[in-house]
Amino acid sequence: MKSFEKPLVRLRGGDSPASCHTHFYSPAPPITHWPPEVAETPEVVVVGAGLSGLTAAYRLRDRQVRVLEAGEAPGGVCLAGEYQGIRYPAGSAYFYYPSTPAWQAWYQELGLDLKDAALAAPTSALFYKGRWFPDCFSQNGLRTLPLAPRELEGLAGFAGDLAALEDQFDLLGAQELPHPEWDAISLAHYLEQVRGFSPEVTRIFTPYCRSCLGGGPEAVSALAAIYFLLSEISPTAASAAFPEGNARLVQALLAALPRPPRVQQTVVQVKPGPDSVQLLVWDRATGDYYRLAAGAVILAVGKFISRRLLTPECGWDPEVFRAFRYSSYLVAALGGAITLAAPGYENWVVGAENFTDFILRPRSAALEGKRVMVLFAPQPPEGRAALLQVRSEDQGRQVLQDLERLFPGTAREVEEVHLFRFGHAQVVPYPGFLTHLKGRLKPRQGRIILAHSDMEGLPSIESAIFQGEQAARLARGVLEGKFEGGQ
Ligand SMILES: Cc1cc2nc3c(=O)[nH]c(=O)nc-3n(C[C@H](O)[C@H](O)[C@H](O)COP(=O)(O)OP(=O)(O)OC[C@H]3O[C@@H](n4cnc5c(N)ncnc54)[C@H](O)[C@@H]3O)c2cc1C
Repeated sequence: MKSFEKPLVRLRGGDSPASCHTHFYSPAPPITHWPPEVAETPEVVVVGAGLSGLTAAYRLRDRQVRVLEAGEAPGGVCLAGEYQGIRYPAGSAYFYYPSTPAWQAWYQELGLDLKDAALAAPTSALFYKGRWFPDCFSQNGLRTLPLAPRELEGLAGFAGDLAALEDQFDLLGAQELPHPEWDAISLAHYLEQVRGFSPEVTRIFTPYCRSCLGGGPEAVSALAAIYFLLSEISPTAASAAFPEGNARLVQALLAALPRPPRVQQTVVQVKPGPDSVQLLVWDRATGDYYRLAAGAVILAVGKFISRRLLTPECGWDPEVFRAFRYSSYLVAALGGAITLAAPGYENWVVGAENFTDFILRPRSAALEGKRVMVLFAPQPPEGRAALLQVRSEDQGRQVLQDLERLFPGTAREVEEVHLFRFGHAQVVPYPGFLTHLKGRLKPRQGRIILAHSDMEGLPSIESAIFQGEQAARLARGVLEGKFEGGQ
């Protein structure tokens, strides 16, 4: 039998900080002079080939669009991995089954068959006090948790109240926040001070919050957490996932684009001109810089990048960008003849130190068959440096030790560990952030448009797609001269 000290640990991917760090974080950034010649004049440049940038490019596919991506492949955090022929999500994994005709049309148009993404129940399960609780966050599932009767009664009331809110609670693109008072406090405060639960109830929601929102219940806005939890508690919402996760959405978008994104192209500066936006781009493959002039630019990158590449004359207040905080993330895919039984698609683990949840591919163990266990290990914002500096072997071992403590024997079945690291994985909706965002961040200044999921303050693929769609509409308006003479 293999010792869990020994499996082969390989760093397989994640984001590509090197090209951005060279320009934006080194003590003497090598941003040089702008070449005098313009290399190309596309109608629109989309910066960043994550889900938001690709959605924008797809919606503008009838125009001349150039997509530039700093990394080695498109997709952003929607990555797929493979172990012995088994495809697995190496980053973003699942989505909510589209409930409106407009959202369903988005999937259909792209040829994404939602039947392939249907998940058998239960989609979520919680490992708590040594036992599995299937369907843990549904109204029925919450009742089964081993808590005092008073807490269970409180949870039933909480779930009932949330289910009743569902129709008035779409935060995507909302001009005003429903229940803004919940954004002023953390989920822990809401649960313990407003609803009177004990800290033990807060603990149950900890892995979910850390994984989905980048911070524990004490660090995230109650409004953001309630919005996410609503999809779990609602009797009508359902999650769905393709075997390789949301990388399938990226592939569908790429297939629909007339021109593939150009990879290893880091946009290092953007400045407005009278009739176009000027971009300075670093070609990582050749080491050369070149200049583009576009009718409109969509910045589908995180605000930690936007604030560094936009010159002051672009019009945004840098203070607004500074309010964005990001968590970092390690995803560890463990391959081997893994026999562990876990009931959910997404399995949340209370009490693990180095990970919060996992997905098994395939869900049931085939006799002697290989499987992949994808462990999600979100890190706090201050964990970024450690994430990037700790040796891969040590990161792999930490996760395996935690796994062995909780599920004895499992780590010994692991033969290979694939690690994926994301330095600025997702925006953290800390208390007050959504309120800050709603009031102050203009998505467009002249010909420059901001996209990216972080614009919604909520890390989800729905935020990314929504933002991509909105950016495409704004870019079209710019090209058609609709905003002339005004902002
Ligand atoms: C590990 C993980 C798991 C997740 N799981 C889920 C999930 O199951 N369900 C869900 O709904 N959400 C999930 N999310 C969140 C969701 O997937 C993301 O919010 C969404 O996919 C982000 O898309 P985006 O286009 O906004 O940004 P990104 O994916 O961040 O794309 C931005 C792109 O811009 C590029 N870029 C950056 N700077 C430059 C530059 N200067 N020049 C050119 N290119 C640049 C980057 O390389 C990147 O490719 C997860 C996130 C992570 C990290």
